[in-house]
Amino acid sequence: MNIPFSPPFIDDAVINEVVDSLKSGWITTGPKVKALEEEIKKISKASEVLCVNSWTSGAIMMLKWLGVQEGDEVIVPAYTYSATALAVIHAGAKPIMVDTCEDFNISVEAIKNAITNKTKAIIPVDIAGFPCNYEEIMKLVSDEKIKSLFIASSEVQKKIGRILVINDAAHSLGALYKQGVPTGSETDVAIFSLHAVKNVTTAEGGAICLNLPAPFDNKELYTSLRQMSLNCQTKDAFSKSKAGGWRYDIIGLGMKINMADVNAAIGLAQMRQYPFLLAERKRIFNRYNGAFNQLSWAIVPPSIYNEKETSYHLYALRIKDITEMQRDAIIDEIAKKRVSVNVHFIPMPMLTFFKDLGYDIRDYPQAYKNYACEISLPIYPQLTDEEVSFIIDVVKEAYEVVINVVKDVFEALN
Ligand SMILES: *Cc1c(COP(=O)(O)O)cnc(C)c1O
Repeated sequence: MNIPFSPPFIDDAVINEVVDSLKSGWITTGPKVKALEEEIKKISKASEVLCVNSWTSGAIMMLKWLGVQEGDEVIVPAYTYSATALAVIHAGAKPIMVDTCEDFNISVEAIKNAITNKTKAIIPVDIAGFPCNYEEIMKLVSDEKIKSLFIASSEVQKKIGRILVINDAAHSLGALYKQGVPTGSETDVAIFSLHAVKNVTTAEGGAICLNLPAPFDNKELYTSLRQMSLNCQTKDAFSKSKAGGWRYDIIGLGMKINMADVNAAIGLAQMRQYPFLLAERKRIFNRYNGAFNQLSWAIVPPSIYNEKETSYHLYALRIKDITEMQRDAIIDEIAKKRVSVNVHFIPMPMLTFFKDLGYDIRDYPQAYKNYACEISLPIYPQLTDEEVSFIIDVVKEAYEVVINVVKDVFEALN
């Protein structure tokens, strides 16, 4: 059996929706993007949703909109995909990395200790789809003492009057923070990724959820950010293509990061069946839990806890008391059986670019600990129960080979 890690979900509904866009004569930003935004708005309960061409470009645009400058700081977890910090650097600010908790998510205590009078934003990440402590983070930035540290250096920052919270919800579309309170509605901004390996995809894409407090008007904000995502051009291609609609203006320095309809079509067809897709991921997650909960060496990932429920995006298995080298050896054993697994994530301070900037993994002990024993198993709707059982057996055998056999040999030698 050959089991890929995360193939996209492409059924006839997806193909027909893409064909519909191709045949319509309109392939870039238009009605399909609008319809996808509406679907994501429904599931996230965000005030407004704006689709763009990636999570990364969406995050850069939101930080530019906030008006971050050289010397400004944005707090991010050390344990995430690099885009979280790279977006901050692209926008011209400095990522301040903090450690994570046992549940993989950013430590609110560590955020608190990292806040200075240069902090402009915090980007917590819902690792594997399990929601962060949004309420605690929003409470922290609204705290009078913390607010008194804040120095506003742009019109937008003045209007907010505090640190902005941009949730990296790349994994957590469909997750629940509380009963009836989905991810995407609880922080100032939340951004979903619609990249090919994510739970809903447009091949490449991102969806920005807007929930700014008064005096912001999220509808107006949506309109101006949409313009900003289209070079700050006063007319989009759709209105400009109509007879007589040729004149336009450029009113600022925007980006060119709009989503195309032909891409939106893929995600639109997936979103229309998302309850089913989510249930299928949960089915696999629970099968893994059923097997690994019985093994003393396995730590199963957080799924339902304190009213939160994950989006079941990743199955981040951890193995007790093993070293990073042993974990790597277990992955090699698994690969021999042609099962593709992954590690989420290599903490950013372990990657060359960030090391060269001076970040040091020794400052993030929990991030390292989570990373060193983590193996992400395949989890997607197309996996059959037989395949899941096969993966479970392969993982168990790999553990036996690497840990128990080595231990037996060691004991025999002594
Ligand atoms: C995938 C991912 C991103 C980046 O998403 P893109 O749409 O590829 O830009 C950001 N953060 C996390 C945690 C991710 O997993």
